[in-house]
Amino acid sequence: MKKNAKKIDKNEELKDLKKKLFYKKENVYDVRTKKGAKETERYAKGYMKFLDNAKTEREAVREGIKMLEANGFVPYTLGGEIVAGGKYYYNNRDKSLFAFVAGTENIENGIRICAAHIDSPRLDLKQHPMFENEGFAYLKTHYYGGIRKYQWVTIPLALHGVVTTMDGQNVEIVIGEDEGDPIFCITDLLPHLAREQSQKPLGTAITGEGLNLLIGSEPIDGDIDEKVKFNMLKILNEKYGITENDFVSAELTATPAGKARDLGLDRSMIGAYGHDDRVCAYPSLTAIIENKDSEHTIMCVLADKEEIGSEGVSGMRCRLIVDLIDEISKNLGGNPNVVRANSMCLSADVSAGYDPMYPEVYEKRNSAIVNCGVVMNKYTGGGGKSSTNDASAEYVGKIRKIFQDAKITWQTAELGKIDVGGGGTVAMYIANHNINTVDLGVPVLSMHAPMEVISKNDLYETHRALCAFCK
Ligand code: MN
Ligand code: MN
Repeated sequence: MKKNAKKIDKNEELKDLKKKLFYKKENVYDVRTKKGAKETERYAKGYMKFLDNAKTEREAVREGIKMLEANGFVPYTLGGEIVAGGKYYYNNRDKSLFAFVAGTENIENGIRICAAHIDSPRLDLKQHPMFENEGFAYLKTHYYGGIRKYQWVTIPLALHGVVTTMDGQNVEIVIGEDEGDPIFCITDLLPHLAREQSQKPLGTAITGEGLNLLIGSEPIDGDIDEKVKFNMLKILNEKYGITENDFVSAELTATPAGKARDLGLDRSMIGAYGHDDRVCAYPSLTAIIENKDSEHTIMCVLADKEEIGSEGVSGMRCRLIVDLIDEISKNLGGNPNVVRANSMCLSADVSAGYDPMYPEVYEKRNSAIVNCGVVMNKYTGGGGKSSTNDASAEYVGKIRKIFQDAKITWQTAELGKIDVGGGGTVAMYIANHNINTVDLGVPVLSMHAPMEVISKNDLYETHRALCAFCK
């Protein structure tokens, strides 16, 4: 008997020691409270509303400003005054958005920055998009970002964007989102006649030049050329006052039509277009709004152009972020070089969720598991950690401590197996300004597809993680 009791003691000891020494991935379902579950659902509802109203970067900027203004943030213009405790936003050309709260502590302690992007893969219209062919009218597109072309045929598409006319007007267009609106689509072959097409590799069966949007078939009445195209231009002119020339100065894009939906019998997930990266942009906004009384100076960046390399005036490679930090530093009495050196950034972007239907491309031990919380990517890139920010042990340690203290369910991951592919985020462009940065975000299934999938748990943990970081 005595011997047995000793054995049991010893086993308990080993179990305790194992618990202490081993890493164990936490699942949100194992730790969340009833109250947490309720909060998760409430938060997800707000996010889905944001998604429905923000399918392009311009729409996301507009929605973001609405949220910020409702919470006391005021517009800032370069050169303007910034006072400690003030809440500001900088609208960059309606394409990217910076919100910041000037803290009460010494500005040279640095700024806490959450940076997400608000552009998503889609089909932009070409500059001379409209043509007629055999009784149909079409719009030619040039795809934006990394899409798998075969996913974009035979699905309902909507048109979003703006047209700048010669009299300086900006005409906003959204067609295909209201119940009563018409939609558009790209046609595909019927299987009966697709024997040859079906033999082609997935990546080449549908071509870029083949992604033409079907927009009409009714001719204008009269004895004249290109009757169907004529009718389309007439309809657009009557409704929006634009002509074919105006497409030259337009940003029109085809996105999947329709709203974000609960996914699954249990409604535990959300199926929607554009989770990448609004599923991090929204938590970045809510974190800065909820932490407006933090003593730290905090900043939320919603960037454009991430999906095509972060170039240009609205991308993260633009020096605007440095200009803004210069302005904040100057106004709050700090040296901007010191401020940047002491700043910390979470590059809030999605990660590839482990998909058990495609286990061959993942290394499971280092994968982002859905429902296991917000995921940190110490590095992204591809081909031997090429083209990535690789956060330091010290910086990851600092963030890890913040999450542990706030009881965040989080995990780390890489983007799939080595040499299978790769990808990047804005992290390196921010880190290049001498700002410590690491990637953090939500695991996504079917990333870049017209409908992406995330779990509500991971969304809410991301909000909680960004809040803890700003606090
Ligand atoms: Mn992204
Ligand atoms: Mn992406």
